Amino acid sequence: MLGGMQDWQLRLSGLIDHAAREHGQREIVTYWADGSESRSNWGELRQMALRMVQALRRVGLRPSDRVGTLAMNHVHHLASWFGVTGAGGVLHTINPRLFDEQLEYIINHADDRVLLYDAAFQPIVDRLRARLPKVEHFICFDDGAFADWIATEDGDTAWEPGGERDPAMLCYTSGTTGNPKGVLYEHRSTILHAMAAVAPSVANLEPRSAIFPIVPLFHAAAWGLPWAGASVGAKFVFSAVNEPARLCELMRREGATHVAGVPTVWLGIFQHLDATGQDLPPFSQAISGGSAFPPAMVERLLRAGVRITHAWGMTETSPIATTSYETEGWDALSLAEQVRYKASQGRAVFGSEVRAVDLDDPARVLPRDGTSAGALQVRGFWCIKRYFKAESDAAQAPEQWFDTGDVAIIHPDGTVQLTDRTKDVIKSGGEWISSVDLENAAIGHPGVAEAAAIGVAHPRWDERPILVVVKKDGAEVEAAELIRFLSTKVAKWWLPDAVEFVDEIPHTGTGKISKKDLRERFRDYRLST
Ligand code: AMP
Repeated sequence: MLGGMQDWQLRLSGLIDHAAREHGQREIVTYWADGSESRSNWGELRQMALRMVQALRRVGLRPSDRVGTLAMNHVHHLASWFGVTGAGGVLHTINPRLFDEQLEYIINHADDRVLLYDAAFQPIVDRLRARLPKVEHFICFDDGAFADWIATEDGDTAWEPGGERDPAMLCYTSGTTGNPKGVLYEHRSTILHAMAAVAPSVANLEPRSAIFPIVPLFHAAAWGLPWAGASVGAKFVFSAVNEPARLCELMRREGATHVAGVPTVWLGIFQHLDATGQDLPPFSQAISGGSAFPPAMVERLLRAGVRITHAWGMTETSPIATTSYETEGWDALSLAEQVRYKASQGRAVFGSEVRAVDLDDPARVLPRDGTSAGALQVRGFWCIKRYFKAESDAAQAPEQWFDTGDVAIIHPDGTVQLTDRTKDVIKSGGEWISSVDLENAAIGHPGVAEAAAIGVAHPRWDERPILVVVKKDGAEVEAAELIRFLSTKVAKWWLPDAVEFVDEIPHTGTGKISKKDLRERFRDYRLST
């Protein structure tokens, strides 16, 4: 028997229709890289997206075809989110900080047919164009090309019809070993995530909110905030440049209520305020995620009366899975207790479920006892089942638990506390560094017998890589020389902050380097800022 309610598919076009109909005048403000400013609104954005639907049909885009964007945060980029998905296509947001080889790999792997990009990334496009045989159209967002591309259309069309399980968005993550992997979000999963994100216990959004996502649109869909913000018709403030002085000025000028960024962004803002003697801009809600949120930053925001959402999640979880929401008795907690809780990864939000399992015996689910640390697993309405084009599922049937690669303790009240990571990657300033790639590069040096890269705590970048090296017998290798050698092999920001020469690197029973032991050994390692 079916229920007696109406037949609506959960499609992203419904979000922009609602935002334009009920909040058409609500502003979308962009501060461009050249210092200029433009002001649009949900009504205009919908028109722009519909014209884009026509332009995409003109170039032959078929449902489920991929359109890549290589762009910072601005109104044209946001319009393309609704334009591409409204045409039935899949929006593939690309992280411009990746290296050429990674960009080439993911654009080709995604089969992007159109690439929309910022003028600032023209050099990347020029370098890669010949290696991207499947991209038929390269369209620059600025310099008038994007505006011209949609200018001949009138917007008098309908969104592409389709089902709610159709793919909508593709985000690659390099937070795994091997090549980056694509996570293919659906219309339905994205709408459900947006509806959950609005709640006070998640991003706490309402029509009066003025959201300033400093998290880039290419990072796990800017944590889903653009979709969630559309569902309430919130104002958006975008800055194509993430310079702390400018960010703070914009927060004040545009009356930002919700500011979202990774801890490294928050630190930059605090340092700017300290250097100039300014007060915190008067926003009411801070949203942080992507890396651990240091207690000192939490305390500073709480003391300023700012409400904090510290979220844990992954590209694979759309991304929000847990948040540090307040529960009964919150006001009675001491400041120290509030800081401790807000610095944890918080509790599962409805739609996501978490558990910890024994690291050596994954069939054994660990108790939520506040002491047992295990492999953190997650499942839910917007959690990955299978990576794009993969041959097998990433989540284990039939229970669908997905192994996050994080290690956590779960407390009796459900609070998740991350303690370590099993995946062999390092996260610096919100971006991934592959330890395996660093190690392989180091092994290429004639004086290196064995090398292991691990992340150590860093006050600004959260983590930075250090390289632990065993020299070949009789070889003379100096740290500076090794770094010089590596600088010809990897990007500058991947270079280890220090090289430690040791006699032996610990191994596991199966002969692999034991990163766990190494991380333990270098737990108190101090890097200079
Ligand atoms: P990404 O897919 O790039 O968003 O990275 C997801 C990974 O970032 C997680 O598996 C964690 O290792 C890390 N991460 C995300 N949020 C947090 C957080 N709040 N605290 C600590 N680590 C986090």
